[in-house]
Parts: sequence; structure tokens; C-alpha cells
Amino acid sequence: MLKIVCADCKKDLGEKAGGEGVTHGLCPECYLIRRKEIEEMKIQDRAMEENYENYLRRNDMTGMKVKK
Ligand SMILES: [Zn+2]
Repeated sequence: MLKIVCADCKKDLGEKAGGEGVTHGLCPECYLIRRKEIEEMKIQDRAMEENYENYLRRNDMTGMKVKK
């Protein structure tokens, strides 16, 4: 039997036929926590992208000022 253990909280999630040893999954609670973290990471990524675009825009403006 293959034992399924939550990768985060190590909770026993049951057993699966067709193998030996331990495999990792996510229990519903940890899945929700992970999903929230992933969504927050995506929001941070978007904020970083916007900051980078602003940074590039500022640099363009500075570059134009230097050229003139
Ligand atoms: Zn868990």
C-alpha cells in the first residue's frame, strides 16, 4: 500500500493501492492555505510588474532629459 501524507501538516490522507512507500498530497485545509498564498503571490507579482513598468518609464524620462 502507498501511504498518502499531507506535504504540509503531515496528516495521514489514507492509502492507495498500487505501490509501496509514502507519497505526498495536500489535505483540504492545507490546499486552501496554499491557494491563498499562491493568489497573494500572483498579486505581488502584478504589483512588481507595475513597479517595473513605472521604473522603466521613469528611466526613459531621465534618459530623455539627459539627451537634451
Ligand atoms: Zn495538511
